[in-house]
Amino acid sequence: MSTITTSKKVFANSESLFKKAQEHLVGGVNSPVRAFKSVGKTPLFFDRGEGPYIFDADNNRYIDYVGSWGPLILGHAHPKVIQAVTKTLQKGASFGAPCELEIELAELVKKAFPSIELVRFVSSGTEAVMGAIRVARGYTKRNKILKFTGCYHGHTDSMLVQGGSGILTLGIPGSAGVPDDFVKDTLIAPYNNIEAVKNIFTQFGNEIAAIIVEPVVGNMGCVIPQGNFLQGLRDITTQYNSLLIFDEVMTGFRSCFGGVQTDFNITPDLTTLGKVIGGGMPVGAYGGKKEIMSMVAPLGPVYQAGTLSGNPVAMQAGISTLTELMKSTFYNHLMQISSQLENGINNIIKDKKLKASVVRYGSMITLFFTDVKVKDFETATTCDTKQFADFFWKMIAEGIYIPPSQYESWFISGAHSKKDIDNTIEAINRSI
Ligand code: PMP
Repeated sequence: MSTITTSKKVFANSESLFKKAQEHLVGGVNSPVRAFKSVGKTPLFFDRGEGPYIFDADNNRYIDYVGSWGPLILGHAHPKVIQAVTKTLQKGASFGAPCELEIELAELVKKAFPSIELVRFVSSGTEAVMGAIRVARGYTKRNKILKFTGCYHGHTDSMLVQGGSGILTLGIPGSAGVPDDFVKDTLIAPYNNIEAVKNIFTQFGNEIAAIIVEPVVGNMGCVIPQGNFLQGLRDITTQYNSLLIFDEVMTGFRSCFGGVQTDFNITPDLTTLGKVIGGGMPVGAYGGKKEIMSMVAPLGPVYQAGTLSGNPVAMQAGISTLTELMKSTFYNHLMQISSQLENGINNIIKDKKLKASVVRYGSMITLFFTDVKVKDFETATTCDTKQFADFFWKMIAEGIYIPPSQYESWFISGAHSKKDIDNTIEAINRSI
């Protein structure tokens, strides 16, 4: 393959690394969307990050709107996080036994999410969801779980049905290797459609352990709950003694020191978290009402464990990150630049009369290449993904790194400056 050049950028090192990687790693990557299949060409390999910037293996610099898919809300290599994590690491990476930092991070998580009375730390969002679903089933002694088309809850078997994120990006209906029996208790409804949920509950209500939902969706691009959708979910789960699980792995801390449950004032029974609470290290969490979480071992009969769960290095990265978020100016700045980007894109859409729309929740934003209002999976899939792929590479040429898929949210960090956003808006104006 000849060397790709995009507006004078050279990607020779990324290309040769990808060639080598494919000899050893499945598809050259360790997570599917990284292979850039939906935008074509060779994936970029990255070498280092610095605040809002990320540098590829050929030393091209980009303003980064992926932020490791959400965790890096402070930008790359935040000095306070690096310093604290280094100091902690020097005392040992993991004990497989309790340490004080677990309590400290738990206190911060509970401060941000008052619906969480007891928490369990794990090492990924997927694990958090697995735990939450198991405890919901154990507590209610019911098997069925209702999820929404286009929502992604990690790669646990029962959730790999009509998912978002890479499943949507790669057009995979579900996953091979998941026996029908493992998904027979997964019920599906369209997002933002409370009538469909009511119909399902009329039929199966007394068998449903929980509804799990991305309360604002990030995984078919950013999609906002309409009207009283979330309150409707709260009401119907209460009525049927089912649990409501808010999967805030992505939305947690993205608009305030809390989550969608804070912004919409709705109290779920269980919450799953990940990404930001690990500040770039592998951390997930699930938690909720004491009575429900007391079902988890060693207090109760629902088993869940982890060799590296709550290790001091990961806990410290989370603590240092959340501590920065509590500083009074943090969210003012983050919301200001996020709305600056939203307004800038909206103006371009208007000026150029584009068939496109922009949706934002806090510091998550998606530019959809469709003029249909995106409110669920069906409307999300009206997007022109070819146009997106073309736009993606033009943005790369401009030195802006956005997620390599139409169906993902862009993540803005506190390290982005107004000038970075201005530059991004100008680049979008030239690229679209
Ligand atoms: N839930 C949601 C809402 C997510 O966005 C993700 C990952 N993007 C997950 C769960 C799974 O998290 P992880 O990739 O850390 O397993």
